[in-house]
Amino acid sequence: MGEVPYFVSLDEAVRIAKQTPLTLDNETLSLDDAHGRILATDLISKVDDPAFDNSAMDGFAMRFEDTLTPPSILKITGLSQAGSDIESSNVEVGCAYRIMTGAAIPKGADSILQIELCEVDEQQQSVTLLQQSKKHFIRKRGENLQKGQVALSKGSILTPSKIGLCATMGYAEVPVVTKAKVAIISTGDELVSPGQPLQPGQLYESNSFGLAGLVKWLGHQPHRFNAVPDTINELRTALDQAAKTSDVILTSGGVSMGDWDLVRKIMQEEGDLKFWRVKIRPGSPPLFGTWKGTPIFGLPGNPVSSHVVFRMIVAPWLRHSTSASGPIETPVRVKLADKIKSTDDCTTLRRIQIHSTEEGLIGTQGSHQGSGNLESLASADALTLLQPGQKAGVGAWIDALIL
Ligand code: AMP
Ligand code: MG
Repeated sequence: MGEVPYFVSLDEAVRIAKQTPLTLDNETLSLDDAHGRILATDLISKVDDPAFDNSAMDGFAMRFEDTLTPPSILKITGLSQAGSDIESSNVEVGCAYRIMTGAAIPKGADSILQIELCEVDEQQQSVTLLQQSKKHFIRKRGENLQKGQVALSKGSILTPSKIGLCATMGYAEVPVVTKAKVAIISTGDELVSPGQPLQPGQLYESNSFGLAGLVKWLGHQPHRFNAVPDTINELRTALDQAAKTSDVILTSGGVSMGDWDLVRKIMQEEGDLKFWRVKIRPGSPPLFGTWKGTPIFGLPGNPVSSHVVFRMIVAPWLRHSTSASGPIETPVRVKLADKIKSTDDCTTLRRIQIHSTEEGLIGTQGSHQGSGNLESLASADALTLLQPGQKAGVGAWIDALIL
């Protein structure tokens, strides 16, 4: 293997990969098109929010001094509703304005009483206040956001509430990181596309579909190649094409020790290999390097392993490259209801189900944990994050990564 780091820890694998980050351009998109994208710059509010003092309640606006000894009877002298211009308003001593939620506070008023505590006499054009009015029912100009304030930082994932916040700040369009083009190449003579008849010895190719889903989930653009048979020439052709058209290459299969593990072989002989094999279980075979200058992750063929390696290594690398923030790599604490066998040298990533109880999150382990068993991944809620040698008996609190 020469000097290529071999069988590295998970942290080391991620650290090495981050030394070869992606560089992506930015583009400007309308808010309608920016959902789920990664903000490319800090975003500064163009306005104060609220833009003016306004009422948090439907009710009446008045001078607090006039309401000190309830019940107080005030004369109704005006109305402020949403969108009203209250420039010429004035709430005089002994008077009140009707006011709607969100409407501007008329001049002179410094407090609100909600309609439920007001008895209106339409005949007399007066209102009886059953309690003292409330100053805190006035939402102050700029109390949420001040003009010039950074309200969303670079790397924010534009979730629905953040898209709304962009609009609140006055942005019709926002700068986002251009989607990474991610080539996905499955390898293996035995693989057949779903929808085709299966011959003896064949199985349906599933990894590229799952990996494409993960790429989209991170806000990027997958490009699934047709599965490549196990020949060096066809693999080389596919890698060359992917390197020309993509920012990143993901392969699956062919990274173990065997003679037919051609991704590993071609990377050793013709690529620039930066690590091979990682201390995680499942998923120990992966490699990382560059092919003709394009970063390439060689993921294992076993369907669970390819998914797990994406989550543990590719996703942190991709998110680091784009400064993407957000909680997807933040572990949750789970109490185990089943014992989980850890290993001495690897991070153990078992599939568990999670149930929310009064005690907190409780984790149970399904029986069959084979790395070829995609059903066990699809029916799991999380992966255990057990450090090498960490004991994980019944009742142990451990970290887990939500799938
Ligand atoms: P390999 O790492 O190429 O030896 O593959 C390990 C196992 O994963 C074998 O049983 C393969 O048949 C299976 N496998 C490899 N690639 C895929 C794929 N794209 N979809 C489903 N199974 C795969
Ligand atoms: Mg194979």
